[in-house]
Amino acid sequence: MPDNVEMEKIVSLCKRRGFIFPSSEIYGGLSSCWDYGPMGVELKRNVKNAWWEAIVQERDDVVGIDTSIMMHPGVWKASGHVDSFTDPLVECKSCHLRWRASEISNEKCPTCSGKLTEPRMFNLMFKTFMGPVEEEASTIYLRPETAQGIFVNFENVLTTSRKKLPLGIAQIGKSFRNEITPGNFIFRTREFEHMELEYFVKPGTDELWFDYWVKERLEWYIKLGIRRGNLRLRQHGKEELAHYAKDCYDIEYLFPKGWSELEGIANRGDYDLTQHAKYSGRDLSYYDSENNERYIPYVIEPSAGVDRSVLALLIDAYHEEVVEGGTRVVLRLQPSLAPMKAAVLPLSKNERLTPLAKKVYAQLCLSFMTCYDDSQSIGRRYRRQDEIGTPFCITIDFQSLEDNLVTIRERDSLAQIRVPIEELEKTLQAKLSGEPFEATPLWATRQK
Ligand code: ATP
Repeated sequence: MPDNVEMEKIVSLCKRRGFIFPSSEIYGGLSSCWDYGPMGVELKRNVKNAWWEAIVQERDDVVGIDTSIMMHPGVWKASGHVDSFTDPLVECKSCHLRWRASEISNEKCPTCSGKLTEPRMFNLMFKTFMGPVEEEASTIYLRPETAQGIFVNFENVLTTSRKKLPLGIAQIGKSFRNEITPGNFIFRTREFEHMELEYFVKPGTDELWFDYWVKERLEWYIKLGIRRGNLRLRQHGKEELAHYAKDCYDIEYLFPKGWSELEGIANRGDYDLTQHAKYSGRDLSYYDSENNERYIPYVIEPSAGVDRSVLALLIDAYHEEVVEGGTRVVLRLQPSLAPMKAAVLPLSKNERLTPLAKKVYAQLCLSFMTCYDDSQSIGRRYRRQDEIGTPFCITIDFQSLEDNLVTIRERDSLAQIRVPIEELEKTLQAKLSGEPFEATPLWATRQK
């Protein structure tokens, strides 16, 4: 594949194959808003499931939560978002386009070279009104992160889960930021999904846990199939650190525009719980019964973007290769992430083949996402499945009607094996879980 796949190729594949469409497209679209189509919604769900499995399901020191998007305005006062969740904004005096000051390199408008205004601070939170009266008192915000929903529920979760520290609370959900310059497809949008973990620890153990989570989170991306060479860790310098953070690392991915943040992992000290205790008047300290002491826990926060992970996974999986003189585009997504695990393809739309093919489909779709396609030539249907990353295609031909064997074609090697229909589901399950395709059962006949 080209080492540096251009973003246009990813955007075009996403549109062509039903991963991601521009939002409200029939009305001309809405800037920086995107809709996930039939393939995209599956990929996105698989990414979220992989995160939830690793962070919540496979650990007994983390529990999940799902909090509301709209919260008491006091939350955002306490968290510091009302006063300082801002980006410096400059405006072009000629064309009136607005830019993040940090994006400007030579003091001129990147579009028309016009003069720029002095930077002013712009709050990134979306404001709206709750209830029928549009007045200051009913102003609320769409959350710019899911983390605050976790902090304000710390006490609830601690008492109901009956867990001790270290304890993590995890959440996946929508966040909203009125970004000054969104762009780069789904890299920076105004509405996106966060996957956030707040891991509460005893002060003094925070640095160890911080190192632990930085390593753990980097490993997660590698396990999902992202090449190690396309990932790196970058520690924040002192000037870059938020005033409350003790330390912060970004996991960066080599996007087509260069190295950029995929996830941030911060040691937030006791800032959040201290602030909420102060503003709410509630005691948010933790009683450590083993050591008979009371303290405000420190928090380690790995905060990742679902959409940015989806984008990195698409870019990393995208391959172009020459097969039989033509270019084959293939998404080498790990089977667990692939939108469809298998495609049932009768050799043609023949009335003798259809009933058997439909029977096979009906059997497989009970176990995993399967699609059925009998339109156009088999070659074109294979290409379509390659482009959406389907690991296995099952072909039903006239021979199948005689011997009850079907062909499984593997996406990456293009190798094919023939298996009895009654063994098909078991075989696919094994291959999807990583059994090598070459390890054919005794009854299988390898074909070219
Ligand atoms: P950036 O520096 O790119 O604005 P950030 O440091 O403000 O990001 P965090 O607040 O740390 O981002 O959020 C954690 C993660 O959420 C980011 O690493 C990214 O994956 C995702 N994210 C943040 N803002 C956006 C956005 N506007 N669009 C899509 N994903 C986002």
